[in-house]
Amino acid sequence: MNRPEHNVFLQTGTSAKITRVETIPLLLPFHVPFKIANGAARPSVEILLVRLHTDEDIVGIGETQAWRRQGSSETLASLTRVIEDHFAPRLVGQSPFALPSILRNLEETIYHSLYAQAAVADALYDLQGKMLGVPVYKLLGGKCRDALATCAVLSIKPSVDETLEGAVEFFEQGYRSFTVKIGVDPVNDVRNVSALRERLGDEVVIRVDANAGMEFDGAFALLKKLEPYGLDAAEQLLPIWDVDGMAELARRVDVPLMADECVSTDHDLIQVIKKRAATVVQTKVAKNGGLWNSRKLWFIANAAGMRIFPGNHPGTSIATASVVHLAAAWPGPLLEGPFPVGISTLAGDVVTEPIRLEGNLVRVPDGPGWGFTLDEDKIRRLRADR
Ligand SMILES: [Mg+2]
Repeated sequence: MNRPEHNVFLQTGTSAKITRVETIPLLLPFHVPFKIANGAARPSVEILLVRLHTDEDIVGIGETQAWRRQGSSETLASLTRVIEDHFAPRLVGQSPFALPSILRNLEETIYHSLYAQAAVADALYDLQGKMLGVPVYKLLGGKCRDALATCAVLSIKPSVDETLEGAVEFFEQGYRSFTVKIGVDPVNDVRNVSALRERLGDEVVIRVDANAGMEFDGAFALLKKLEPYGLDAAEQLLPIWDVDGMAELARRVDVPLMADECVSTDHDLIQVIKKRAATVVQTKVAKNGGLWNSRKLWFIANAAGMRIFPGNHPGTSIATASVVHLAAAWPGPLLEGPFPVGISTLAGDVVTEPIRLEGNLVRVPDGPGWGFTLDEDKIRRLRADR
């Protein structure tokens, strides 16, 4: 029976129970292979969708990615096994409105299984929103902004000209913040940053990101050379285990540092804060265990005077929407982060009307839950197990 969304809650109350946990492994190709400092260029990203079915026929959707790099060794198979073998028995029969106790239970079941927890946690938010007929940002207290600005991510290219060409294209679309991937060839890194500054002028924000691919000496030497170019932040130059090295680097260079790969949990963030190893933090809903945990990190970072850079691994409209709703309900300042990186780089999506960038802006969706409906045809074509 079709009922208007706003009546669903009145009709069903909150008595719905989760009946089934469905995992959907996907392989989404990039338009152009994605190159960061660690490893070879990546032709595609592995994504796992989770659908939580209920006895009220309302379905919640969550997303995570098996994006292997320092701090994540997940595979589609490992995520699927954790969710199906260990989480599903603890979810079936539960109310979607038991989110806090469910998440605590999942953490106790498989310690630090944040990538797997992310998809379940976010599917619970989507379910709650759909059951109440409200967007997720309303579950978080309400909307503070209608749209979010994002930055351009410039992946490692063979030549300065190609880097510049990509940047100018973004600039013409309205982008004024740029993250340049570095860490493979320091001579090329300095050329790229100096060319970008010269071409785009002093008004644009330039950040660099080495994806934990450098050692202390190389990172120190490179940042000293980059100091004259007015970087807004240098992101995760050192390996995730070297938070002391980051703190030393922070004291010795005139570039603010950003922590990304080294911050999975709230405890990690507190270590970064105590050591003064970074003044900017990047969150990602998959890395940090979903919207619930990401929001916790934002509160902690904000209380410590850090700036917040909303990121994401490359993902679909679902993982992007998670950040959009989180940010929509955030009252404080946010940097223009690369949270929709998957929207601009992936050659496919899984929803009927994917998130579209209007210049460098993403509008906050107003439909129930995330505000998106899965497209079954697209999913069939993108399945990793077809
Ligand atoms: Mg990063």
